[in-house]
Parts: sequence; C-alpha cells; structure tokens
Amino acid sequence: MPNLTLPAIILRRVDFGDYDLILTFFSLNKGKISAIAKSAKKSTKRFGGILELFSVLRLVCSTAKGRELLVLQEADLINSFSCIRGDLKKTAYASYFAELINEWSETGSEQEGIYRLLYFVLDQLDICRIPEEILSIIFQMRFADIVGVRPNLSVCTDCRIEIDRIKEDRVAFDFSKGGIICQKCACISVNRFFLSKGTIKQLLWVESGDLSKAAKIRFTPSSVKEGLGFLESFITYHIGKELQSLRFLKQIRRKDE
Ligand SMILES: [Zn+2]
Repeated sequence: MPNLTLPAIILRRVDFGDYDLILTFFSLNKGKISAIAKSAKKSTKRFGGILELFSVLRLVCSTAKGRELLVLQEADLINSFSCIRGDLKKTAYASYFAELINEWSETGSEQEGIYRLLYFVLDQLDICRIPEEILSIIFQMRFADIVGVRPNLSVCTDCRIEIDRIKEDRVAFDFSKGGIICQKCACISVNRFFLSKGTIKQLLWVESGDLSKAAKIRFTPSSVKEGLGFLESFITYHIGKELQSLRFLKQIRRKDE
C-alpha cells in the first residue's frame, strides 16, 4: 500500500460506526478525496483532535489498489481556522462553500484553483477583515468561472449589445441562457432574475484580477443583497437543488433581519 502525502481541507466529516470517521477533503494535488480515520472517534489522541471541519491539514494516507477510500495514517495541522467554528454565521458560510465544492467536484480530479479559492475565503472568514456576504459573492463568482459556468454579464446573450449600451436600469438575467438579455431580445421566461446595472458592474469587477484585489471592492448594501440573491439562485439552478447549507444560511439571515 503506497503512501500519499498532501495538503487538504476538510469539507465533510461523518461518523462511521462507533470508532471511526469518514472524512471528505479537498486536496491541492488530487481534488476531492475521501479517507477513513480509524479510531478517530474512540480516541481524540489518535489524531490529536485536529480533524475538524474547514481545517487545513497535511495528510499521510495509504492507498489500496482498486479502492477509492483512502486510509488516513497521520495528519499535521497547517491551519485550524478555529474562529470560523466559534461563530454561527461564519460556520454557515463556510459550510455552504464546502457543500458546494463537495456537490460539484468529482473525486480525484485536480483543481488547484478551487483549493486556492477555498483557502482564501476560509482564511478571510477566520481573520474577519471582509464581510461574509462579500466573501460569498467572490467565492461564487470565481467558483462558477473555474468550473466553467461563468455567468455572462457583459453583453446581451442574444444580440451581443454591451451592458453599457443597454438603456434599462434593471437588466434581466436568463438562467437557461446563462447570461443577461436586453429588453429587445427578452421573451417570456420563468427562469429570470433582474439585476441593477450597478450590481452587474460590481460583479464584473469581482470576477477579474487577483483575489486580494477583488476583496477590496466596495459594494453598496443593495448590491450585496441583490448580488447574493442572484448568485445563490444561479448556483441552485446549475446544481438542480437547493443545498442544505444554503437553506440554513437563509434561515440565519431571516433571524438577523
Ligand atoms: Zn439583445
């Protein structure tokens, strides 16, 4: 059984019997992987209590021929992001990012961009410099781009007229076409979301350049609300169901209001 050493972030942990845990990780080199941590439940000493959600670890796993599930042999802590787990709202956002990645990714396909994006948003959640809502906008825009479903926000999907030349203040985004649609081209469609031009501009800024620069963009409160509503509907449309973590996030928001 050859050993595999790699940095990885814990996306999910599930009890397995009385003693073991099954962990799903997003790793730098191999994308999504699952491993069994034997006796991790029975004795916290076995892995030093570091197998917590969103933690970044350096794993040593053994692999068995023909088996997808790895066996976790050792784990060293790189970053625990412990502030996230101590805060309900941060936990809710981090859970959404983790569930989204878990749902979308296939096991074993390398996606370095997703690993770096997840690390960035968790790190920022942990140090509390950027509001959770803005991080979620950045995460969803960048994630959609990496996985190949980037929303077209710059030109009308049908006639290609540029956003700046569209006269209306509010522009329809057609989910089935994957982009904005000008009034002339619009036909009756149920899968539509209206966005103000201001929000569209801010989403376009978030999409390009390096991540730390994107995080400095100032959003108006109405753009944050509209941008989040749009992206969460957009992602839900592509996944084909509402994620459990998103339902929880919406509940928390309603309580805050
Ligand atoms: Zn058009």
